[in-house]
Amino acid sequence: MRPHYSFVVPIYNEEATIPELYRRISSIMDRMDGPVELILINDGSRDRSWELLRELHQRDARVCYLSLARNFGHQIAVTAGLNFARGQIVVILDADLQDPPELIPDMVEKWRQGYQVVYAQRTQRQREGWFKRFTAYAFYRILKQLADVEIPTDTGDFCLLDRQVVDVLNAMPERNRYIRGLRSWVGFRQTAILFERNPRFAGDVKYTFRKSLGLAVNGLVSFSKVPLRISTYIGLFSAAIALCMAILVLYWRFFAPGSPLTGYAAIIVAVFFLGAVQLVSIGILGEYIGRIYEEIKGRPLYTLAEVQGFHEAETPSPQ
Ligand code: UDP
Ligand code: MG
Repeated sequence: MRPHYSFVVPIYNEEATIPELYRRISSIMDRMDGPVELILINDGSRDRSWELLRELHQRDARVCYLSLARNFGHQIAVTAGLNFARGQIVVILDADLQDPPELIPDMVEKWRQGYQVVYAQRTQRQREGWFKRFTAYAFYRILKQLADVEIPTDTGDFCLLDRQVVDVLNAMPERNRYIRGLRSWVGFRQTAILFERNPRFAGDVKYTFRKSLGLAVNGLVSFSKVPLRISTYIGLFSAAIALCMAILVLYWRFFAPGSPLTGYAAIIVAVFFLGAVQLVSIGILGEYIGRIYEEIKGRPLYTLAEVQGFHEAETPSPQ
């Protein structure tokens, strides 16, 4: 039977949280008013997560899992989950219980009111460290300013999606997937539900600084062309300064003998400044060109090592 609800949870080295995750989610699953499938995506974990998923699947037929052939990253893991989800309603949540499953019935209530995307918006991040809180705060605000679409601030991937939205997301061919952005981009009737973000239940944060930075750059580059324009603006600004300087130098040369132009230090600074501007501009260009390259290669988004719990006939092939 086709499940009505699909819960999609990416798992990367989460052996310490999986039992508690299952306990809390399954009690919500029991309370739902239709058949539920729990899709766990093992994103190339190096600990015992894979075995734990197997055990859960054997114990509870509602648990299905995918195992990616290596660590492809959170966004790709969620994408894989969405590709396989069969429910009319799909909920994405993190494995570490920072996204409380208890919120799902409220989200479903919003869906009943006619919303097709219900995203959870954080009001507070408890004990997540000032650095993470500050960078996340700043990033979401910068993104809001620069992005072509309205991407709500302080939202993660915790959300409910209607089947219609999932189908649109699955049909999107792009490889650099910033799901929060794509989710806003698609449109449909969207609403927020507020929640307090609890600390991680157990284990370490899997988003290293590098991964977070990568995600942030991805979000910016995928949804804004402003960075490209910034280098144009700085270029124009430098050109204006250079023009003024040229006029000034000519003036001193011809009309003010014994000019204060002593040269050396100023020249070095100017050379370094312009060198820096050019390198940064090339770097920004590179970000966009690199992405074109990624898209054009057309490799699959992920490779699968194992798929369990979906009926064969209904299992879609990865894109
Ligand atoms: N995750 C993943 N692949 C990765 C990194 C993270 O599937 O390469 C999963 C992780 O298991 C968790 C979710 O993504 O379910 C969010 O990760 P984490 O809690 O470490 O990040 P944060 O809470 O800082 O967003
Ligand atoms: Mg977390």
